[in-house]
Amino acid sequence: MLSVPVMFPRRGRMNHRIVIIAGGTAGLSVAARWRRLGMRDVALVEPASTHCYQPLFRFVGAAAAPVSRSARSEVDLVPQGVAWIRDAVAANDPSERLVQSESGARIRDDAFGAHLGVELAWDLAPGLSRSWRARLPAPTTRPASPTTRAG
Ligand SMILES: Cc1cc2nc3c(=O)[nH]c(=O)nc-3n(C[C@H](O)[C@H](O)[C@H](O)COP(=O)(O)OP(=O)(O)OC[C@H]3O[C@@H](n4cnc5c(N)ncnc54)[C@H](O)[C@@H]3O)c2cc1C
Repeated sequence: MLSVPVMFPRRGRMNHRIVIIAGGTAGLSVAARWRRLGMRDVALVEPASTHCYQPLFRFVGAAAAPVSRSARSEVDLVPQGVAWIRDAVAANDPSERLVQSESGARIRDDAFGAHLGVELAWDLAPGLSRSWRARLPAPTTRPASPTTRAG
C-alpha cells in the first residue's frame, strides 16, 4: 500500500498549491500528472473511500462480472505524495480560489484548482440506484458547475 497522507474532515482554513476536487478517474490522473511534474503540494478532495472502475460496468450489465469487482480502495489509488482530504465539496468560488467542504473547511489553492468528475444519472434507469446501493456504497453526488482554473 502507498504512503498517502489522509486528512479527515475538519473545520477551518487550509492552503495548498494545487487543489483537485473529486478523486475519480479524472482527478486521480490530474493529481498524478502534477506529482510527476515535481509539484509537491497537491491536495485531492474526495469523500468516497471506494472508487469504481466504470468500464467494468459494461460486463456487469451483461452479467459477466459482479459489480463488486469494479470496486477499488481509494487509498491505494491516490498518488504518492498527494494529500487526500476525505471530505465532499459543498460550494466552489473560483474567483476567490476557494472551496467550502461539507464539514466546514475552507480550502484555498495558490496556483491551480480543478473541479473534475462526471455525474452518472443513476435514476434514468429504473431500479438501478436501488440495485447499486444493495451492493456497493451509495454513489456521491457532485455539486453543480464544474470548473477548471489555473493562474
Ligand atoms: C458503462 C461505462 C463504460 C465505460 N467504458 C469506458 C472505456 O472503455 N474507456 C474509457 O476510457 N472510459 C470508459 N468509461 C468512462 C470513464 O469511466 C469515465 O469517463 C471516467 O470514470 C470519468 O472519470 P471522472 O473522474 O470524471 O468521474 P468518476 O470516475 O465518476 O469520479 C467522480 C468522483 O467525484 C467524487 N465526488 C462526488 N461528489 C463529490 C463532492 N461533492 N466533492 C468531491 N468529490 C465528489 C465521487 O466520489 C467520485 O470519486 C465508461 C463509463 C461507463 C459508465
